[in-house]
Amino acid sequence: MENALEITGLCKQYKGFALKDVSFTLPSGCVMGFIGENGAGKTTTIKAILNLIHRDAGSICLLGQDNIADERAVKERIGVVLEDGCFLNTMNARQVDVLMGKAYRNWHSEQFFDFLKRFGIDTGKKIKDYSKGMRMKVNIAAAMSHDAELLLMDEPTSGLDPVVRDEVLDLFYDFMQDEGHSILLSSHITSDLDKIADYITFIHQGRIVLSEPRDVLLDTYGVLHCTAEQLAALDPSAVRGKRVGAFGCEALVRRDGVPANWTVDPVNIEQMMLFLTRGENAK
Ligand code: ATP
Repeated sequence: MENALEITGLCKQYKGFALKDVSFTLPSGCVMGFIGENGAGKTTTIKAILNLIHRDAGSICLLGQDNIADERAVKERIGVVLEDGCFLNTMNARQVDVLMGKAYRNWHSEQFFDFLKRFGIDTGKKIKDYSKGMRMKVNIAAAMSHDAELLLMDEPTSGLDPVVRDEVLDLFYDFMQDEGHSILLSSHITSDLDKIADYITFIHQGRIVLSEPRDVLLDTYGVLHCTAEQLAALDPSAVRGKRVGAFGCEALVRRDGVPANWTVDPVNIEQMMLFLTRGENAK
C-alpha cells in the first residue's frame, strides 16, 4: 500500500531558525505523533506539507500525489486542523458549513452538524465568541466531514478538557477503522500519543531525531541508572541523552548497547522527549 506521506530532504530557512533536511514517512493506515519542544519546527513542517509556506528544498508526496503539482486534487483528500484555526473569526458554524460545501466536493453538512451537536457547540455564535476548545472542536468537525483519507493536525487536542480530549481520541480511533485512513498529529500531550500513535517522529531544533514505530522505540530504548564511570564505559552511540547528577547518572540508552546484566527501565514517550531535547547528549 502507498505511503500516506513522504517527506524527503525538506529545508526551510527563517532568520534564526531552519528546518534541516527533514525526511520521514507515514505509512498508510497509521497514526503518527509528531513531537518536539516549542519552536522545534512542527508547525513549519505541517505548513510546508500544505504548501502554505515556500520551501527552500525537498519534496513532499501526499497520498501518492505531489503536494504542489497536484495540490488541488490532493487537498480534497486531506482534513486539516491548524493551531490558529482554519476559519475567519467573524464566521459562525453555519457559514463554515457553506464555505466548506463550496470548497469540498464531498462535503457532508449533516455529518458536520452531527459532530457539532455531539461536541455541544452553539452553531449560531461567531468563532471569535467560542472558547479555545470550542474553536478546536469546530475545526476538527470540519476536517472530519469531507471523506478525508489523511488528517493533518497541529495540536488538535490542546485546549481541550480531558473528557473532550478522550472523546476526540475516540473519533480518531473510529476514523482509523478504515485501513486506508492515516493521521499525522503534532502534540505536546504525550499521553494522547501513548493511546493512539503507531509511529513517533521527534523533531528537535529543526532536525528529525527519531522516526520509528512507537513499539519499536519503546522496545529499543530504556532508562539506565548508573555511575558516571559506567556511563563513560558505554559506546557513545548507545547513549541518546543523559543527566549527570551529584548522586549518579540517568541515561536514555539503546538496550542492545549496554551489558546484558545491567538493569534498564522501560521508558515512555514523555521521558524520551525530555532526554532527546534536554539531555546533555541531545543531538
Ligand atoms: P510550538 O510547539 O511552540 O507550536 P513548533 O514546533 O510548531 O512550536 P514552529 O511554529 O514551526 O515550531 O516554529 C519554528 C521556528 O520557526 C520558531 O523559531 C519560529 O519563530 C520560526 N518561525 C515560524 N514562522 C516564521 C516566520 N514566518 N518567520 C520567521 N520565523 C518563523
